[in-house]
Amino acid sequence: MEFIDLKAQQKRIRALLEERIGAVLDHGRYVLGPEVIELEEELARYVGVRHAVSCASGTDALLMVLMAWGFGPGHVVFTTPFTFIATAEVVALLGAVPVFVDVDPETFNMDPEKLSLAAEALDRDDPSLHPLPQAARGCRAKAVIPVDLFGLPADYPEIEQVATERGLKVLEDAAQSFGASLGGIRAGRFGHGAATSFFPAKPLGGYGDGGMCLTDDGELAERLRSIRVHGQGSHRYDHVRLGINGRLDTLQAAVLLAKMTIFDEELMLRQQAAERYRELLERHRPDLQLQHIPDGAVSAWAQFSVVAPSEQDRDALRKRLEDAGIPTAVYYPVPLHLQPAFAHLGHKEGDFPVSEDLARRIFALPMHPYLSAEEQQHIVGVMGDG
Ligand SMILES: *Cc1c(COP(=O)(O)O)cnc(C)c1O
Repeated sequence: MEFIDLKAQQKRIRALLEERIGAVLDHGRYVLGPEVIELEEELARYVGVRHAVSCASGTDALLMVLMAWGFGPGHVVFTTPFTFIATAEVVALLGAVPVFVDVDPETFNMDPEKLSLAAEALDRDDPSLHPLPQAARGCRAKAVIPVDLFGLPADYPEIEQVATERGLKVLEDAAQSFGASLGGIRAGRFGHGAATSFFPAKPLGGYGDGGMCLTDDGELAERLRSIRVHGQGSHRYDHVRLGINGRLDTLQAAVLLAKMTIFDEELMLRQQAAERYRELLERHRPDLQLQHIPDGAVSAWAQFSVVAPSEQDRDALRKRLEDAGIPTAVYYPVPLHLQPAFAHLGHKEGDFPVSEDLARRIFALPMHPYLSAEEQQHIVGVMGDG
């Protein structure tokens, strides 16, 4: 059994993939070719934003937006410690300080009340309100990066309210949530800008790395297009700012355009698979906690994670599944504030207890559009009644 079955998907669209890839081989414009432009237009329309700027990865998409906003030393960016490292890594790479905000125990997404508290703590320079790294003291709060974990959009209505009160930019980390929505608004449309990823395992995945920035802000989009190509100005050897080499390959755009033809159907299939898991698990394993999907939210189901009663239960369940040939994964076993890469922030265990608790008890089951009802019954059957 596959954790994410990309072969079944490829089988469906193989001919179209070959046609799209063949067209790129024929025209030979491998970098920022016509398929890249076509993909940007199609995804901007899909999400409902004015501008889409493709780039080399989801990490670059996050980085480029922070660069475009001019963040660096002396600035604080809030994000959660229960995410992939890229979300906070880009903040630190620019010399700004990530200030972590714990997640909600039910949705696993940023807790807006704790965001408000963190901003207040920084403002008043009072670490008794919130665990502030020494490096953040005296810095100015500039932005918040909420993460749409496992495909579920964060609580944008609440987060945006705090952000407005505090004058913070909002950068949506939609790496896992392309295709999701909240209140009828598609992921990628929240905040002042959003970043998504086309890593093969994401809901819309290519055959390599890729990413995209999405925004309604024309000035931001223009800066992003410059940053993507070494800060290019009016011509190739005019550099008006520092940038990166962050372009998307034309071949990846061609693959993604082929995948877009079945994307909505795949989203529906993921939705059905998630529903089936929910029914089966509520019946057979009511001791396992599932991610709470608030009213009005539709997840893209990048992952289907469950929370066991204890770390021992989690590890025993994973072992049982592994012995039956069923792959599982843990997103994320170590919260970011306890990662060696962020040791300089000086955090300790207990600083973000919800994230730490989830890291010990969570694990993800196989999830993809081609997961059959029989396979899911088998998976839950192996897990037994609890
Ligand atoms: C995958 C991911 C990223 C980074 O995307 P890449 O394309 O792998 O660089 C960023 N944030 C989150 C939450 C992710 O899951």
